[in-house]
Amino acid sequence: MILRICIADVLDQVKLDYRVKVAGHLGSWMMSVAREAQGVTGAEISWWTKGGRFRLGPKDVLIYVVSEFQSGAAMASGNANGTPESAGATFIYPAQKRALSEVYWGKITSPLAFSSVVFHEAAHNKSLQDNKMHGGRRRGGILEAFTAHGVARPTADDFKFFAEHALTEVSQIVVPQTTLKNFWYRGKRP
Ligand SMILES: [Zn+2]
Repeated sequence: MILRICIADVLDQVKLDYRVKVAGHLGSWMMSVAREAQGVTGAEISWWTKGGRFRLGPKDVLIYVVSEFQSGAAMASGNANGTPESAGATFIYPAQKRALSEVYWGKITSPLAFSSVVFHEAAHNKSLQDNKMHGGRRRGGILEAFTAHGVARPTADDFKFFAEHALTEVSQIVVPQTTLKNFWYRGKRP
């Protein structure tokens, strides 16, 4: 099984060289996860852009790139609560094993920061854990609450945690592209 992170930049906000840097950071981190996980033979980072159609496998994680919470995929889906102040958020429905993750492009300063937010949100998504994920044995990694770590790289413990959930099937909530686009245009542009 290939561990796949699909980043949906449906509004085409992220430049190609930036995407390449993110794929580099995340690709090597996900390979470290793959080495820890039973039954995982590889890792892949996919970027989806305007006009792209998602072809998600049952174990893939989908991460939306949006300018901010108020005009994001979660709000467009009609299921989101709250107004996240962090650079990313994941909305989890554990009973149905469904999740929606997004990254707030307007709050991100570098490809490394972008990559660490994606890793953090993907870990929420796969584990179906909300704030519970931030505590426990993890200290100093990027799975702590976001305000605690700033920009950093995952620790060995972070890889191990992700690996424990790598084979979990979480149904990704997909917001139709036209809905997201219409919603975003009603909101504020970055
Ligand atoms: Zn978190």
